[in-house]
Amino acid sequence: MEQAVSQLKGVGPKRAQQLEKLGILTVQDLIRFVPAGYRDMRIKTPVADLQEGQTAAVLARVEHISKVSRIPGRHFSMVRIRIEDDSGRIDAVYFNQPYITNVLKEDEWYVFYGKVGRYRSSLVLQNPEFLLPEKAESEAMTPLYHLTQGISQKTMRALVRAALESGPMPQETLDPDFCARHGLSGLQDALRMMHAPRDDEDVRRAARRLSFEELLDFQIAMMIRRRERMSMRLEKMMRVDWDAVQRMTDSLPYDLTGAQKRTIHEILEDMGGTVPMNRLVQGDVGSGKTVVAAAAILAAACAGRQSIMMAPTEILARQHQRSLEGILGPFDIKVGILTGSLTRTERKVALEKIISGEWQVIVGTHALFSTDVVYRDLGLVITDEQHRFGVEQRSAAEQKGEMPHTLVMSATPIPRSLALVLYADLDISVIDELPPGRKPVNTRIVQQSKRESMYGYLAQRTRLGEKCYVVCPLVDESEAIEAKSAEEVYDELRVLLPDCRIGLLHGKMPEKEKQEQIRAFADGRIMILVSTTVVEVGMDIPEATVMVVENAERFGLAQLHQLRGRVGRNDKECWCFLVKGGRDREEERLSVMVHSSDGFEIAQRDLMIRGPGQILGTSQSGTINSDVIRLIQDPGMVRETREAALELVQREDAQARKIIYNALKTIDLKTKRIVMN
Ligand code: ADP
Ligand code: MG
Repeated sequence: MEQAVSQLKGVGPKRAQQLEKLGILTVQDLIRFVPAGYRDMRIKTPVADLQEGQTAAVLARVEHISKVSRIPGRHFSMVRIRIEDDSGRIDAVYFNQPYITNVLKEDEWYVFYGKVGRYRSSLVLQNPEFLLPEKAESEAMTPLYHLTQGISQKTMRALVRAALESGPMPQETLDPDFCARHGLSGLQDALRMMHAPRDDEDVRRAARRLSFEELLDFQIAMMIRRRERMSMRLEKMMRVDWDAVQRMTDSLPYDLTGAQKRTIHEILEDMGGTVPMNRLVQGDVGSGKTVVAAAAILAAACAGRQSIMMAPTEILARQHQRSLEGILGPFDIKVGILTGSLTRTERKVALEKIISGEWQVIVGTHALFSTDVVYRDLGLVITDEQHRFGVEQRSAAEQKGEMPHTLVMSATPIPRSLALVLYADLDISVIDELPPGRKPVNTRIVQQSKRESMYGYLAQRTRLGEKCYVVCPLVDESEAIEAKSAEEVYDELRVLLPDCRIGLLHGKMPEKEKQEQIRAFADGRIMILVSTTVVEVGMDIPEATVMVVENAERFGLAQLHQLRGRVGRNDKECWCFLVKGGRDREEERLSVMVHSSDGFEIAQRDLMIRGPGQILGTSQSGTINSDVIRLIQDPGMVRETREAALELVQREDAQARKIIYNALKTIDLKTKRIVMN
């Protein structure tokens, strides 16, 4: 039985609220809360080798402790501790911790542990933890958890410890002989090891058990869902008018690529069948997915059925409306739009045209699934540019029509081995060919020393009327300050390039302000847009010619490829600058971007370099626990869990049934939580 966190001693309503932000509702959630990493103080880095961005332990002597300096008028103090080892010196800086001056002693040796940052152009250790060297050995592996405002590492460790001591541990879900066969630890052992490992081997074993089960559960749920779908029978089969589709494609000003033709063929075959279609179309940015969607929409319309096409943003929805009107207008198909920003009167008119069937296809955002929208005869649901559309949306879609065909379109190429996991419930078509004549975007890796001159070049391009994106990563996911780095770069650029019109866009801004920034960028009131990755999907500002990615090493290659896809949409020479932060070993990975513009090839290389866990972990599948999935290091585990899942769903014995039952329950619970949020 799960117990609310508030049942733990010392957890009041406020703390419970903070924990909820981390997805922790119950004592057992705390027990299952996987550390983001470990503070390992055994391995020390010589001071001279410290690199910006790195989190490291150093064994150093305190040489000098500064006075507490206060910034007048602000609640802000700083202490600088000069420390050194044989190799060199560095300052540890402590903000708002004046008592440090009384704790640390000059000439003593300590192990300092913290993040290497920059303060006034020199490297510093930021607010490092410190321990006497003897203690650092015995407290070797301390878990580091994701945090949220108001909860410190110390508090989180104490909470987890309290949960482990007081709460009933989650029940074992796999049989001992299943565990033995796959070399897995028991669940309770794994959870205990996870939070208090004795060594790396404990961490590895715990990670294997937890990620194995996560992957297994997910695949079982997907496979069961697929099986259920295959056993459904459509009440109304669609008669697909292949000739009409042929006439449409003949009317285009270009020839379809072979991959587009093949994909349209696969879709039409599905749509004429007895089972509801559930197909994913994967195609790189610019591979021409819209026309493929148009073909499906036309086929549905010819059979007298309505279609909807959902985009993640309003801007994208409007873009689709224009494209579809261009392609389908000549065939007498009326394309409507429904988004959250329609006025009351516009919305009323829209709802009438939807229910009357006057609009054969409606594009829009989530608003398409509002409860007051009633469709005439929904036969096809298309979702565009979603990494993976959540289970919750799919069931919302299903409620709008009686078993409509569904088509998901994704521009994120992922390697086939992983696609089989993430999309185990879907059929997959791949558009692995770009229309002829596309010019690749020039891509360069930019070292820190060249960063300023690169921005000078940016200013030059904007004077020619060209627009530039500057994308910044999240500073540190565990710090819960998403917008900070974009804001910092924005401030910096305003000083560096005083003549440029610069805008700022990040996820924490109110929706209205976001829209306004995007509009200003589209109109040319802003020429350089500094943002977090909110621009990643679908933004289409054709005059943009330069994409700068700050701290590019922090992004996955697939994501960089997406970002780069925001430029190169015109006949000008386009550039992508990948600005590298500290870590040198990232050079090889980033250079993949310089040499390839093929999304699938890039994804495959990314898989080889970073391993399956990192990639699945960013899949944005709401029902995968990415913290657990990131733990997968062994590429073989993807295949092993897939085979195990396939075998289990085919078996009928008690052991298989128990595992399947648990998997479905877990996924179901996660789905419900997503819907609730
Ligand atoms: P995406 O797959 O990124 O959604 P789009 O469907 O927006 O790509 O297509 C990108 C551009 O390529 C559009 O302007 C479209 O008209 C054009 N296009 C699509 N297919 C072809 C083709 N076979 N030949 C030439 N241009 C094409
Ligand atoms: Mg598209």
